[in-house]
Amino acid sequence: MFNRHSTSDTLCTDQVVGDILSSWRYDISGLSSEMRTDYEQHLAECSHCSGRQQLHRNIDVFLITLTTLSVIAFILAIAVIRHEETLRDWSLALQVHQHTLTASLEAAAIAGLLVSMFAWILVAIATPAPGYLNGMLHQHQEAREEQKHAA
Ligand SMILES: [Zn+2]
Repeated sequence: MFNRHSTSDTLCTDQVVGDILSSWRYDISGLSSEMRTDYEQHLAECSHCSGRQQLHRNIDVFLITLTTLSVIAFILAIAVIRHEETLRDWSLALQVHQHTLTASLEAAAIAGLLVSMFAWILVAIATPAPGYLNGMLHQHQEAREEQKHAA
């Protein structure tokens, strides 16, 4: 997923533009299309920056996937805990009172869910991952839209 060799051995062709892009984590999706042109050209020409951009987007997708799976896992955990019969089996196996087991597991799962949701929100705000994923899904539609705007 992370191809180090193609990025670490090359240097940026324009350090000023490269530094600006670096400070944005190579995300230019928030810029207007006029402002974006210069940076897009640099990304097309500079293998260092385009490599870094790909790396950062891979990290973003990885983080959003990880936190999404984490949220789903805790929701499933809570669903299992709420399921009486499963817990009856578990409490028998662990030799504890079902009520104690339910309360402690549920508290842990809810805490986990809250942390995961908080992490997910942070990733969604701090990275362009939602827009990037959306862009991948609707790439063809967006390309068509842009052609319409350009015309
Ligand atoms: Zn560059």
